[in-house]
Amino acid sequence: MMGYMSITRAGCAALDAADPMSDYRDEFVLPDGVVYLLGNSLGALPRRTAARVAHAVTAEWGQDLGASWNTAGWWNLPQTTGDRIAPLIGAGPGQVLAGDSTSIMIFKALGAALALRPDRPVIVSDVDNFPSDQYVVQGAAQAFGREIREIGAGTPMESALGADVAAVLLSHVDYRTGAVRDMATVTARVQAAGALMIWDLCHSAGALPVDITGADFAIGCTYKYLNGGPGAPAYIYVAPKHQEAARNVISGWHGHATPFTFEPAYQPAPGVRRFAVGSPPVLSYAALNASLEIWEKVDMRSVRAKSVALTELFIELTEHLGLELATPRDPVERGSQVSYRHPDGYPVMRALIDMGVHGDYRAPDLMRFGFAPLYLRYVDVYDAANTLAEVLGKELWREDRYHRRLPVT
Ligand SMILES: *Cc1c(COP(=O)(O)O)cnc(C)c1O
Repeated sequence: MMGYMSITRAGCAALDAADPMSDYRDEFVLPDGVVYLLGNSLGALPRRTAARVAHAVTAEWGQDLGASWNTAGWWNLPQTTGDRIAPLIGAGPGQVLAGDSTSIMIFKALGAALALRPDRPVIVSDVDNFPSDQYVVQGAAQAFGREIREIGAGTPMESALGADVAAVLLSHVDYRTGAVRDMATVTARVQAAGALMIWDLCHSAGALPVDITGADFAIGCTYKYLNGGPGAPAYIYVAPKHQEAARNVISGWHGHATPFTFEPAYQPAPGVRRFAVGSPPVLSYAALNASLEIWEKVDMRSVRAKSVALTELFIELTEHLGLELATPRDPVERGSQVSYRHPDGYPVMRALIDMGVHGDYRAPDLMRFGFAPLYLRYVDVYDAANTLAEVLGKELWREDRYHRRLPVT
């Protein structure tokens, strides 16, 4: 009881001094006076990114112009970048392709999975999943003539699995609560029913170790924990066992077997390359690759250990404040975020941001705090918890200006 009272800022500073990951903070640009607990939404800017993007603009584009498709490796960016993402999700070379946005990758994964299960009419979708995942399932069901079976909100997956299910799309880590699913167990159940498992790794990659081997498809974004920058390319994982048969429903020329013969008929490239579509956003790839250089050195087990320590510290410092914890209390069951419910979550979050603690708000009542282990310190967690206590204790959130909704919450 009252364990939080024995935690001091000096104690947190000592944890930072002993933190084997503390050097990574210097890799990032972090504004003074801000505790950034939004790395689960838009990761911080790596210091090396600006120079890398400037090089792509001034040298690759400005001087070398179109030759850069060959000389700067532009043409192969989806594959070379995918190969750099692969170790972060437990995949091997040639299994991950970068490109497009997460939403488009979901459509492509669903299209490929459904074509591999032509006689099964059902897509299983989680009503608690991120809305775009659900919307794309709805669009894919319409486009490919399938039906949707919903799970979540109390309906367990087991009740939805049957001989009529073609594919199941689930998030590994819940974007609202941070709850983690047991990937291996769920994948095994889905496959035992003869269906294909598609994992959304948006809140997993860079937050905790992922072992995607065994799954059929996976997709994810790179602008959250991976710090690729706003609008950074997404990625798709295609299991080796499906690579020969899986087809890209958006059969563009960058996924063609011989794009520079300019044949009228589409022929898929071998391997994951067929999941490319059209011209890649080269400047965004430059930013993403700058960040992936940092990730190449990172040990995901250390990331997880620090992530658990940070979220645990935040909960210990704040659970007496009378908020309802939406995140699992057992660290084994949570990702790298902590979410609290509060009926006035929106103005509370606005007041917090005003005081330099950046989290976000998800309707109807959720305050999300993301903990990016590469650049957050234990003292940041201590300061954030104190600020939250102050906003609630002094009811600073009651000010009118915090109640007016901005377009992006
Ligand atoms: C962030 C996120 C997305 C975002 O999709 P975009 O197409 O990149 O905008 C989709 N799904 C989940 C689960 C997410 O967390």
